[in-house]
Amino acid sequence: MARLISGSAFQRPLEQFFEEKAIFDKATLTALKKVAADSRLPFETVLIRESGLPEETLFKLLAEAYNLPFCETDEIVPFDDLPERLTSICAREKLLVISLAEKNLLLATFQPARIRNISPLFATLGYEASFQITTSSRVALLIAPTEETDSPQDDLFSGIHSLASTLKASENRPREAEKINDISVSLDTPSVSELVNKTLLLAVNQGASDIHAESTHNGARIRFRIDGVLIDRLEIDSSTASGFFSRLMIMSHLDITEKVMPQDGSFKVNCEDREVEFRIACMPGIFGQNIVLRILSGFENIRLNLETLGMLFDELEIIKNVTRSPHGMILVAGPTGSGKSTTLYSVLETLADPRLKFITIEDPVERRIQGVQQIQVRVNRNEPERSLTFARGLRTILRLDPDIIMVGEIRDAETAQISMQASMTGHLVLSTVHANSSSETLRRLHNIGVDFHLLMSCLNLVFSQRLMRKLCPDCRKPRAITATEKALFGKMNVEQVFTANGCPNCMKMGYTGRTGIFEFLPVSDEMRDLVAQNGLTESMKFVREQRIRTLFESALIKVGRGVTDFTELERVCGPCL
Ligand SMILES: [Zn+2]
Repeated sequence: MARLISGSAFQRPLEQFFEEKAIFDKATLTALKKVAADSRLPFETVLIRESGLPEETLFKLLAEAYNLPFCETDEIVPFDDLPERLTSICAREKLLVISLAEKNLLLATFQPARIRNISPLFATLGYEASFQITTSSRVALLIAPTEETDSPQDDLFSGIHSLASTLKASENRPREAEKINDISVSLDTPSVSELVNKTLLLAVNQGASDIHAESTHNGARIRFRIDGVLIDRLEIDSSTASGFFSRLMIMSHLDITEKVMPQDGSFKVNCEDREVEFRIACMPGIFGQNIVLRILSGFENIRLNLETLGMLFDELEIIKNVTRSPHGMILVAGPTGSGKSTTLYSVLETLADPRLKFITIEDPVERRIQGVQQIQVRVNRNEPERSLTFARGLRTILRLDPDIIMVGEIRDAETAQISMQASMTGHLVLSTVHANSSSETLRRLHNIGVDFHLLMSCLNLVFSQRLMRKLCPDCRKPRAITATEKALFGKMNVEQVFTANGCPNCMKMGYTGRTGIFEFLPVSDEMRDLVAQNGLTESMKFVREQRIRTLFESALIKVGRGVTDFTELERVCGPCL
């Protein structure tokens, strides 16, 4: 026990333990280690989040690795019966207290890596603490989520609400209907810009991708899109709302007097030492402005890699194989917000090699990648001939002698045609298509007039994808599966699934982060021949059979592994039961 818990070389023995035990195949273990290294998370955390092992199995293994007993009892000492100083440490560290006799404290934890940090805390209070291992869901079940937390997020959150209500109170006196010249008055109220700033900061801190501010009959409501789902954040009264909208429009250099036509623009702000760009789109509605702000945070802290996208191992193998080819085409399909660009960025970051030249043409550039030349599509409405479209940019790019090209999206036959030619002349081309499924992508390209024989000869892989929210590993709740669900899982050996709960770590949403589900369609010579002979429509049945698995099957595997739940599966894939 001392060997593993003390000393800073602790992380290696745990990885070694899993290697020696041969719990995972080599590829899985390597992938898990890579995730840990890239995300700078402890290996243990990655194991808990990504290993896909049943929870109890995983924690029993951890207990074995740490040479600690696995806690079998649900009988715990309630926090109310403990001295206050113990309660605060145990609640913060999520420890179950199994017994307290004199100064001997027996605790259960699901975070054994924390033991060496927290043992001294108990020692300073005069307690001798010993530990057992338990599962995270048992902790979530037995410790009621604490209402009060003192994270800066929550301060900011309550700050916004109190600010909004102060504004409301001060604006309560009767006013005339809002006029344009009144706006400048309300803009000078420092608290309106403070409210805007705090809202932007909160959205960035909470990892929102968009802020939606919509006028309603009595004000405006502000929602954040977090992990693909809109969440209510704030309601403001009408006078505050008009100041709020005007402030955002002035920041983006838009015309605040425009009440009919849509406008768009952007602005940058520094959020805690990080430059963040906001793309704004305004659309006046019957109650007033509607604004959507897309948040582009530029350089991200965590390096993207293929292993963390949620692909299963056979899918990873396929994509690694096709990206090794020096030419050909890979297409990713999916609606807006399905994670297509993140996937392509991950491919680029994985392939990044100083011996190769990478160029992208995008609309917009969502993430800046080191060593890659990124070009932004620009539409010039006044002088259309001075617009840089995908097709025009792509033609220029080809003269710059790249090895790997990423085309943000194929929307028209011309872009498709140049991309295909590029892929046949020694370039690897990556792109996305706005389509629902991998087979529909082919049909869609066919419909916009793409030369189908050419497409089939250069296409190596097409896949569609969606994003599913991951259950918060700290508070998800296990439950036995029903007979219907058992039938659905079929040959998969699944006995229990998990459901969302909610704790301070996941902002009480029950989910944190997202994972991709994929429908891979590798293009084989057999498929090329068949489509060439019989045409696409006639070959559709065969084409569909070539899919590795459907999105639904991919989602089901993730439910079975406890990564996500049935509610999320139905939200993303439609009703299944
Ligand atoms: Zn949680």
